[in-house]
Amino acid sequence: MSDAKVVVVGTIGLDTVRTPFGEKKEILGGSAVYASVASSFFSNTFLVGAAGKDFPATYVDFLKGRGIALDGMQILEGQTFRWSGYYEYDMNQAHTLDTQLNIYRSFSPSIPDAVKKGSYLFLANLDPELQLKVLDQMVEPKLVVADTMNYWISSKRELLHEVVKRVDFMLMNDAELRQYMETPNVPQAAAKLLAMGAKGVIVKKGEHGALLFTKSFHFSAPSYPQDKFVDPTGAGDSFAGGLIGYLAKTEDLGEDNLRKAVIIGSVMASFNVEDFSLERLKILKQKEVVHRFEEFRRFSAFEALSVAHWG
Ligand code: AMP
Repeated sequence: MSDAKVVVVGTIGLDTVRTPFGEKKEILGGSAVYASVASSFFSNTFLVGAAGKDFPATYVDFLKGRGIALDGMQILEGQTFRWSGYYEYDMNQAHTLDTQLNIYRSFSPSIPDAVKKGSYLFLANLDPELQLKVLDQMVEPKLVVADTMNYWISSKRELLHEVVKRVDFMLMNDAELRQYMETPNVPQAAAKLLAMGAKGVIVKKGEHGALLFTKSFHFSAPSYPQDKFVDPTGAGDSFAGGLIGYLAKTEDLGEDNLRKAVIIGSVMASFNVEDFSLERLKILKQKEVVHRFEEFRRFSAFEALSVAHWG
């Protein structure tokens, strides 16, 4: 591992999820949890977030067991963040039934001194007001990637603009990007977002892959023929965690490596959706990651047109 540290700030939550494959109540979730677990496969990761006194100790033990630093995790008086939702056969679309911010209403993120300077920061899905508070604490971060969702796009649009101006890469799913930029055309919406100040935009298209737009190049990551698809919750966050963890490990933000990072993100998301909560990532092995990365490469490789046929 390189010495570079990843800081992940977001929610620590208890999710109640229904998919066509079953229903689970009060399972481990939260944007920061998925992202930091995925990142921990590649780099030293610090999770910054909060849980209530009702948060099960076994979940804390699991995070510690993955080597995730919890110096920035606060246990507060009150109830843990809760989200409940369901997916129909089109599992790209999450339907939120209920969001209970609970202790996140009063949570103020505090970045541990050890990682304030020169870290790789992932601002996972969280109130943009809190994302800005985190940005104010960071000194010369090597890279800042931020996620958001429809909930914040509609409720805190102006503050989200401030976040976009201050990050390197913005991460959104295609529906959120269209909603935020008020245009149905994804490349045009990405261009609008780049014009606002972000250096890059990563568009997650669920099971259909991901797109990376920067001012100088565009990359299209293929979809993976997902044999086992049980619960998409956390796919976006495990994508982001894999991406930033890999970039911190390799400390290379060049175009070729950014492309690889998008594939690593896709690999982590593709494993995550194979089971509920963090169950699949819990048992995931490094060699499976490497193997699936190669599958992604093979599935999308093709040769140039033959000169003999086309002149
Ligand atoms: P995703 O990667 O987008 O599927 O993120 C799933 C996680 O985001 C779930 O485990 C939820 O606990 C969490 N979540 C849901 N709604 C919000 C919200 N409004 N803000 C922050 N986190 C959320």
